[in-house]
Amino acid sequence: MTTKVIYFTVNGKLEKAEFRSDCSIADVKDLFRAAAEAGPHDILKMYNPSGSMVNISPRLEANDMDSCYRLEVVASDLQSVAVPTELDSMENRLHHLESKVLEEAGKTPDIVFELKSQVEAFKRKLENVKHLSWLGLFKDKNEQQAKFSPKTRRSRQNVQEQERVRRQFLHMSSLQVTEEVREHLKTPIFDNWQWEEAEMMVLLQVMYTDLDFLMVFHIELEVLQNFLFEVYCHYNNIPFHNFQHCFCVTQMMYGLIWLTDLRNKLERIDLFIMLTSALCHDLDHPGYNNVYQINAQTDLALRYNDISPLENHHCAIAFGILSKPECNILKNLSSEQYKQVRGGMIKCILATDMARHNEILNKFKVTLPVFDFKNKEHKEVLMKIMVKVSDISNEARPMAVAEPWLDCLLQEFFNQSDTEKLKGLPVTPFMDRDKVSKPSSQTNFIRFVLLPLFTELTKLFPCLEQHILEPVRRALEYYSNMEKATQEEAGATKS
Ligand code: 5GP
Ligand code: MN
Repeated sequence: MTTKVIYFTVNGKLEKAEFRSDCSIADVKDLFRAAAEAGPHDILKMYNPSGSMVNISPRLEANDMDSCYRLEVVASDLQSVAVPTELDSMENRLHHLESKVLEEAGKTPDIVFELKSQVEAFKRKLENVKHLSWLGLFKDKNEQQAKFSPKTRRSRQNVQEQERVRRQFLHMSSLQVTEEVREHLKTPIFDNWQWEEAEMMVLLQVMYTDLDFLMVFHIELEVLQNFLFEVYCHYNNIPFHNFQHCFCVTQMMYGLIWLTDLRNKLERIDLFIMLTSALCHDLDHPGYNNVYQINAQTDLALRYNDISPLENHHCAIAFGILSKPECNILKNLSSEQYKQVRGGMIKCILATDMARHNEILNKFKVTLPVFDFKNKEHKEVLMKIMVKVSDISNEARPMAVAEPWLDCLLQEFFNQSDTEKLKGLPVTPFMDRDKVSKPSSQTNFIRFVLLPLFTELTKLFPCLEQHILEPVRRALEYYSNMEKATQEEAGATKS
């Protein structure tokens, strides 16, 4: 029996499904239901590239990536939304009729198309007329705003998993973290892959505690825990820009603070700004970068007028979390301190837009010959550089830690370029699976981004040479050798 491979998009993401052609309709439906994170009462519809609806069944024709189907959830959880029964049954009858006609004619007849658009237009009207809200169809403003955040449509499994992690975190946080782990946490060789999500939250709590933030800023432990949990919940399950990345960036920042003895060079509030910015810097990242947001004219690009849409969003989500009293780790700050933290975090998070890399690095270079920790401007650009360095520091970690991160990054990159190809948008060259490889991606990034940046920071803190510069040089050598080997192999095959 053959295995069918079906390519399709759902919620803008390219997915691949595989099933045996002898499996049951119910199994196939369940498979696509899971892909759409749809509940048992949701209605799924599949469209072919020409826009006609096709039956979701084992007889679904196999396709390739260039002729993807489009899967849509057309109604969510009908049990909780009281759809008027007449409209509901009309839609279902139409749906049924269309499926039957499709089976026989292979094409949706115009009359059914016409009827469908009439029903849909009527439904849209009901959804927009406030005084008919008693019908249970009216979508209020808050609900419509939800589409800005992929997390808002949290699946039940997601919520259950998060609750499990929360309980585990609270249980573990009362246990002592050993001195050995606490010390290890202060180094860039720390291996994130060894730790589960709840454990990472405990370690983040250790960072806030060991930098004395709880005491200095009068943060109640419970509020810190609620804050950390909300931060965890607002990172998406995507290959790279996920909670693990957030943890790594924050842990690198923590390590750098100790290695450079910044506790004795900057004020405690500056360290607090840097660590919290690292923690929040990619909140609710959708897995598609700014160029995509702008080219695809997404809601985020629209909202932020194409100006660092993602970074503005990450920062807005951060202060959204902090606006809840039970999560507000800033609530006991004076208004002066609050202003400083808010201003500082906005600057640090917005500085992580790589489009501003040269601008910020050049500013830092100018300060270096006369760098003064008491100078406000110098301090500000140093804080941005510290967050930036932490953000792109994977290659400064041991190879066994760094290499899996590259796989994650390329997975997210390829996912974006696949979607760009699918939607006919300009394809971001460094994300194109036909153009980049692991070594080519890293040799360029290390030569032109990491080494110049890390070299400048090392001028201010020479001790960082061994901790971040040397590992990055070793990574460059490793990937250069890999690149050469691939080229030689390609040469040998040609000749
Ligand atoms: P972030 O999106 O994480 O805030 O900003 C960092 C960006 O730098 C990433 O999106 C990615 O484009 C780039 N970047 C970070 N680390 C690496 C790396 O190891 N290799 C490559 N090629 N790009 C990286
Ligand atoms: Mn990042």
